[in-house]
Amino acid sequence: MEFFETKIIDIVKETSDTYSFKMEIPEGMTWTAGQHTFWKFKDHQVEEGDRPIRIFSVASAPEDGFLMFTTRIAEFHTSFKDILLKKAKVGDGMLVAQPKGTFAIHKEYDKSLVIAGGIGITPIRSILRHMQFTNDINHTVTVFYSDDRGEFAYTELFNDMKEAMPNLDLHLISNRDEFTSKVDKYVEDNKNEAEYLIAGSPGMNNMFEAKLKGLGVSEDNIKIDNFMGY
Ligand SMILES: Cc1cc2nc3c(=O)[nH]c(=O)nc-3n(C[C@H](O)[C@H](O)[C@H](O)COP(=O)(O)OP(=O)(O)OC[C@H]3O[C@@H](n4cnc5c(N)ncnc54)[C@H](O)[C@@H]3O)c2cc1C
Repeated sequence: MEFFETKIIDIVKETSDTYSFKMEIPEGMTWTAGQHTFWKFKDHQVEEGDRPIRIFSVASAPEDGFLMFTTRIAEFHTSFKDILLKKAKVGDGMLVAQPKGTFAIHKEYDKSLVIAGGIGITPIRSILRHMQFTNDINHTVTVFYSDDRGEFAYTELFNDMKEAMPNLDLHLISNRDEFTSKVDKYVEDNKNEAEYLIAGSPGMNNMFEAKLKGLGVSEDNIKIDNFMGY
């Protein structure tokens, strides 16, 4: 696998256990909003038995002018995450592969519903930022971003985006019943006129995929980003 070399330029604590790592965009690297890729340390070694590479979504849009991933580091974590938490610092080298994936908003639908759980918000940040930068105000996007603990990443940015984008209807939800009933209501109102993007753990994604299909949403209208590993 070929890797580009980059450098950490900023580390931002987003919630009590979620961190964003911003990097320079390596020359020749391109991506589209919503894609993911492989990341590896240049200056640190994971413990024996741990995997040296992780897949993270690219959480920044190309227009942001920097490369970024955001990850959750729980109390018990792997040595890869321990390096991110305790050793990685501004100036450190990172290796990043060419991003891939087709998770995106499709303009052929009138509108899109994003169902994001926890760290699943990372590709959504990229997609929404791209829409903002390209002044895409004709496509309506509703985002239900749920976190059981009520801790949300990117809140300041999202508040600014809500002000700037009349076509963005973004809800932060910390109650699971509210999360599912909002989805039910949206489907009832929009059925197959909308596309549905689901981003979260495989368990959450399977649950919502089955729910949407049960409510009559066509498989073609459902796009899923599976965060294997959570
Ligand atoms: C397409 C795609 C996109 C993705 N995008 C992202 C993204 O943007 N951000 C992101 O964070 N992840 C993303 N992931 C998931 C990511 O690749 C990792 O699988 C995930 O972050 C878990 O990382 P980890 O293996 O280092 O485990 P950790 O995060 O360290 O741990 C995972 C779970 O195992 C538990 N655990 C770990 N070690 C121990 C231990 N020693 N004792 C007890 N419990 C333990 C943790 O508490 C946690 O609940 C994506 C995956 C895919 C496939």
